[in-house]
Order: sequence, then C-alpha cells, then structure tokens
Amino acid sequence: MKRRTFTTVILACSLIVFLLMGARICDDLLSSGRTIGISVDDSDEILTVTQVIDGRPASEAGLETGDIIESIDGSTLSSVSEILGLAATFERDTPVEFKIMRGEETRHLTICPGIPFPWTPLGLDLLVILGYLSIALLAHFRAPDVLRARLLSGFSIAVALELALPRFIPGFADWILFREIFYYSLTGAQLGLELHLASVIPKKYDWFTSRPWLPKLYYGIGLFIGTATALIATTAPNLGVPGLEGANALVQSIVNDFVLGGWGIAVVALLFLQFRNSKTPGHRSQALLVLVGVLPWAVFNLCNSVLTRLDVVSPQWTEFVQPMVLLFYPAAIFIAIFRYHFFDIDLVLRRSLVIAVVTCLVIILFSVVFENVASRFGEQVNAGKWQVAAFALGMLILGLLFNPVRAQAQKSIDSRFFPERLAQREHLAELAASLPNQGSLSSMGQHLVEEVSKVFQVESATVMVADPRSGILLSLASNSPRLDGFLEISLLIQSDDAGIEQLRKARRPIPADIIISTSPAMAQRIHAVGAELGVGLISKERLIGILLLGPKVNRERFRSEELDLLRLFSLNVATVLENVRLFQSATYEQLTGLLRREAILEALDGEINRASRYHRPLTVGMVDLDHFKRVNDSWGHLAGDAILQKVAGVLQENLRSTDRIGRYGGEEFLFILPETTMNEGLSVADKLRQALEDMNSPVEEASELRVTASIGLAELKHGDNEHPPGARDLIAAADSALLMAKHRGRNLVVAADMSDSVT
Ligand code: GH3
Ligand code: MG
Ligand code: MG
Repeated sequence: MKRRTFTTVILACSLIVFLLMGARICDDLLSSGRTIGISVDDSDEILTVTQVIDGRPASEAGLETGDIIESIDGSTLSSVSEILGLAATFERDTPVEFKIMRGEETRHLTICPGIPFPWTPLGLDLLVILGYLSIALLAHFRAPDVLRARLLSGFSIAVALELALPRFIPGFADWILFREIFYYSLTGAQLGLELHLASVIPKKYDWFTSRPWLPKLYYGIGLFIGTATALIATTAPNLGVPGLEGANALVQSIVNDFVLGGWGIAVVALLFLQFRNSKTPGHRSQALLVLVGVLPWAVFNLCNSVLTRLDVVSPQWTEFVQPMVLLFYPAAIFIAIFRYHFFDIDLVLRRSLVIAVVTCLVIILFSVVFENVASRFGEQVNAGKWQVAAFALGMLILGLLFNPVRAQAQKSIDSRFFPERLAQREHLAELAASLPNQGSLSSMGQHLVEEVSKVFQVESATVMVADPRSGILLSLASNSPRLDGFLEISLLIQSDDAGIEQLRKARRPIPADIIISTSPAMAQRIHAVGAELGVGLISKERLIGILLLGPKVNRERFRSEELDLLRLFSLNVATVLENVRLFQSATYEQLTGLLRREAILEALDGEINRASRYHRPLTVGMVDLDHFKRVNDSWGHLAGDAILQKVAGVLQENLRSTDRIGRYGGEEFLFILPETTMNEGLSVADKLRQALEDMNSPVEEASELRVTASIGLAELKHGDNEHPPGARDLIAAADSALLMAKHRGRNLVVAADMSDSVT
C-alpha cells in the first residue's frame, strides 16, 4: 500500500475511533440509566437468568439465578436480542414489571433500572483506547514505510476500534447486528496482524522468508475465523433454525475456549522462535521484550479459556484487566522498534526475569514448607503460638535464602540467555586482577587500553594519569588509530580544569560531548584520540587519572549495565595505578620518568666502585638546557614542562640500555656511560646535543620553538687505593666543563680537563 493511502486509512480509522468513543460515552450515559444487572440465556426459547450481579437493581428486587423470565412489562419474549431491544427502552427510575417462574411458582417483581454512571470502567476503557490509538499514530508517523511499524499501526487501530464499539447506538436499532459483524471481523484482522508481527520482530529470519505463503496463511486464518464467527453470530439467532443455534453455540465456545487460548500460544511460540533465531544481543533483547510484553495477555487468554471450560465464571474485574493487559503487547513492540536504544531494556528485562523467577521459587518453597510443617505441627501442639513462630522462622529462612537464590538465578539466566554479558564481566574482572602483574606504569597502561578495547568492543581507549605533585594529567597509553602510533604525552591538562572537575565529581562515566562543552583543554584531547566516553579514575577522593573510550566498533551505544561495570572497574584501576605510582615515585621522577636525583647519584656511586675495582673506563655527562628560563617566560611553565618531558625522552632514546640517566636539577640531566672513555663519550654527547637540536617542539602553540643544550663531560681517573675518586669530584668536573660550554656560546659539548681535578 502506498504511504499516502495508508496514512489516509490510519487517519480515517482514528476519526472513527473518536466517533465511536463519543457514541460509547452517550451509550454508557443512557445504558447506566437502564441497567438492571442480569445475564440471560435463551436456549430452547426459555429465558433463564444465568447471572444476577450483586447490588444492581435486579438483585435488589429479588431476582435470582435460575429464574425463568416469562414476560417483561406484559410483553412475552423469546430471545436475548428481544430482551436487549426492550431494555433499550428502559429509563432510569421508571419501574419495570418482570413476570418470572421460580420452580413451579410464578412471581411478579418490580425492578427499578439505573446504576450510577460508571466513571471508572469507562475512564479506564477510554484510556486504553487512547493508548492504542497513540501507538498506532506514533508508529505510523515515525516510520511510515517500515513493515513492522505498519503492522503495529494496523494492529493497534484494529484493537482501538474493537474496544471503542459501543453496545448500543441511540436511534440505530440495527447497530447490534453491525456491532457483531465489526467485532468479529476486527478480531480476525487482529489475529492475522498479530501473527505476522510476531514473525518479523526483531527482523525477518530464514524460516519466515523461505515460506512466502505464511502471511497469507495468517490472514487466511484471521479472515476465516472472523467471517465464520460473524456470520454465525449474526444469522443464527435471527433465523431461528434450531440446528444453526446449536452451531452458533458451538462456534462461540470454540472461539472462547480454543481460538483465543491457541492464538496466545501461537504468538508466544513465534516470538520464542524469533528469540532463538536472533544472533546479536540487541535483536535477542528486542524479541524477548515483546515476548515478555505478550505473556500477560497470552496467560490471561489461556486462563480465561480454561476457566470457561471448567464452567467457572470469571470475576467482574477481569473485564477491566483484559484491555490493559493487551496493551502491554503493542507497547512492548513500540519500545522494541523505536525506543530500543534509549534505555537499557536488556537490564530491566533480565532483572525482572530474575526477580520473577526468584519470587516464584521462594513463594512455592514457602507455601510448601508452611503447609506441610508448620500447619501440621501447629494442629498438634498449641496451634496459634507455634504457627506464628513457624511463620517467623519461615520468613527468616526465606530472607536468608533470597540473595543466594537470586545470585544463582541471575547466573543461570545470564549463562543460558546472555552468555556474552557474563563473559564481559568475567573478562573485566580478570583484567583488573592482572593489571598489578604488569610491572611498570607504562606497560600497565598499554595492557589496560588493549584489554579494555576488547572487553567493551570499542575502537580505542586512552588512559591519562595525574602527576601526583602538580595534578597535571599526562597521557600514559592509547591505542587510538588517530594518533598513528605516536602518543603525544605532553598535551597537558591542568588539575583544576572544568572537565577534570566534572569527571572527579561525577564518579561515573560521562559522554564525551558533555565534557567537551565544559572544557576546551579536554575537548582537544578528546578530539585527538576520538573518544566518546570518559571516566575518572578516583582513589581516596583524588583523581588518579582518566580513561577515555572511543566509539563502539558496531556503533551501538553503551548500555547502562556497561556504564555500571565501567564505573566499578575504574575504581579498581585507580587503586592499582595509585599503588604503582607511589612505588615508582620513590625511584623515578614524575615529570620525565627518569631516575630521581638521589637515585642517579646512588647509581653513580655503584658505577664508580665497579669501574675503580676493575680499572674500567667510565664517563659522566651533565646536560643543561640553554636559556631555558626564556622558554618558561615566553610560553609558560606548562610548555616548559612539556619540553622537559620530551627532552628526557630524546636523551633516553639516544643512550644505550646499560647507560643511566637521571634528572639532576630543574633542567639539568646527569648521564653515566659505563665502559666508555672520554673520546667515545664525546661522540655520545654530541649525538645527544644534535638530537636535541633536531627535536620538534611538543607545544602546539610554540611549534617553531627549538631547544639546545650544553653538555660537560668528565672521565673517571683511577687514583691509588688511598684516594679513591668520588662521585662529587666527577660531577664537579663535569659541571665546570658545562660552565665552559656555556661560556663558549652554548649548544656545545666540552670535556673536562681532569688532570688537576683529582687529587
Ligand atoms: P642557561 O642555562 O643557558 O644559562 O640559561 P637558563 O635560562 O637555562 O638558566 P638556568 O639553567 O640557570 O635556568 C634554569 C631555568 O629552568 C629556571 C626555570 O625557569 C627553568 N626550570 C627549572 N626546572 C624547571 C621545571 O621543572 N619546569 C620548568 N617548566 N622549568 C624549569
Ligand atoms: Mg640550569
Ligand atoms: Mg639552563
């Protein structure tokens, strides 16, 4: 059907629904005035009263179930429809005479029709009708060309129409006949639409597409049942053919007892099939959501069918419950189609499933225990007391059982229906446990970003850590493809940045757009690594670092359960990082990651001892950046720090792994070259000097900035055993050579003349 035609049909039907609702209100207004509150059966042309509702005029006048109606206000009647016709002329507070037979006895009863206007049931009905109508219109206008949405609109409109049908339309005597036809045709249409809908949620699978005749079959069944029931229900009473009336009763009972119950089972079975066929978690949840939505209605229908077969009259309230129960189904489909991504249905479903299972188990257990143990025990001994005690004990045991049972149920349900969720949680727990084994902070960072990307199936992850002294955030590791393998460590973020503050206070993951809007510095970082989500790593109220996650590989959103997991995980990571950081800060210097002054001096002592004992060569060098104060003055200390960091990296890269280097002072570095003579040391030092000269500025705003360094070198001279050379002498010699280099114009390497520096 073309979109425009379909729209017209939907709108026309909606209009009809409104008109019918109007008629319903009028009808209810009038019929509440003529209600007397009985049900009558007309088989064998005898009008037997089958139900007398308590508190209604008929029961108050003394009419009883089983009475046979002879005449009303003098007119003899033979069928229910005649009674209905007559009842349409009743008026509020105008008494009617009933001549009845009770057993052998004839009685005359005066019944005064009229009950208060039924605000509550009418209001409920109208609400439900409006609910269906809204779903029909919303579904249609949100996705006019999507088959599932169309089926949903069609189905909802059909139900709205059916529910809106008034029993009588004032001044339209034949309405009763039309009403039956409409009613049954609409039921048939709903049947077809509902089966079709259940076969395409969340999408069409092979079993359905390979049987193109299935929709025809669905609508065929619907059409057949609709027409057959409508025909028989409308013709049988009027024709007065006894056989046909029997057929009518048979069809009615088949519809009530089997079709409705079977219909519910069929829809549930189809949805279960769809659920089993769904491969992705998203699809599975959609199918499951609709399945859960349809269950109340299916169960309701089944109970109704069983009760009718058992000749149990359903309580009055079921009339109100039915339409509401039926509303769950389209609402569930609507959410499944349109709102699925807006909240974590999955979680809601799983939690409710678990709660339902556990509650049922606990209730069953409780009733069994209570009935068998407590009541029997109670009969023998002093009943009341013991029962109360047993009851209390039972409650206590149940209370204790609830959590373990819930945990077990959660686990079984998850492993059965949601294995990937369980795997995700376990993977994350393993990751948290394995982090401390990674040793250094940087390998820990690398491991973290790689594993987190796998667990959450994100394109990239980045972890930044805060410098404990300044609180400034430095990048630790990232696997973002945007960085092209080069992690710009020095894009520093101040600890009092608004974005950082936000993450620290939130204590949960925050979407990147929100952080971007509050912090330009963070925005730059987030864009650089392509992050979609940020979470603060917080330990003891302090921000240790942040974890930034890129978009999911399949472009889905993060589910709220994942956000929860991430929040817990971030606490774990924060503690681990903090411990490693505290250990490392005793040995390594925070800003540059080089050895601290004390550590490099200790290393120097060790190297001097070894070299002296074995008479091996040893050379040390002192590096001081040229005019570094100017850098700070022109670009700020933050830029200065960034450069220091990069300088440290360049120096380390250009040394051998057996060499040692530490941060001796602010912008002074001390390096130790074991097994190296002065001559060899000179070429190493010059390589370092050249590398710094060639280094690109890590500060974006100061990309043209170049730094140079002056280097003073000193070689260990082996003295005699009485005067072993000391670290202090060696450093002093290197220092004076450095001073010389500064004097000679900077960006130079100068070797110390050691002839008179060692005594
Ligand atoms: P030169 O060595 O060439 O004589 O000139 P200079 O400007 O580098 O002079 P000096 O070595 O005496 O100055 C050290 C400056 O280095 C002072 C301070 O501004 C800067 N500095 C020292 N430590 C740090 C640090 O941790 N971070 C930053 N940003 N700057 C530092
Ligand atoms: Mg200096
Ligand atoms: Mg300097």
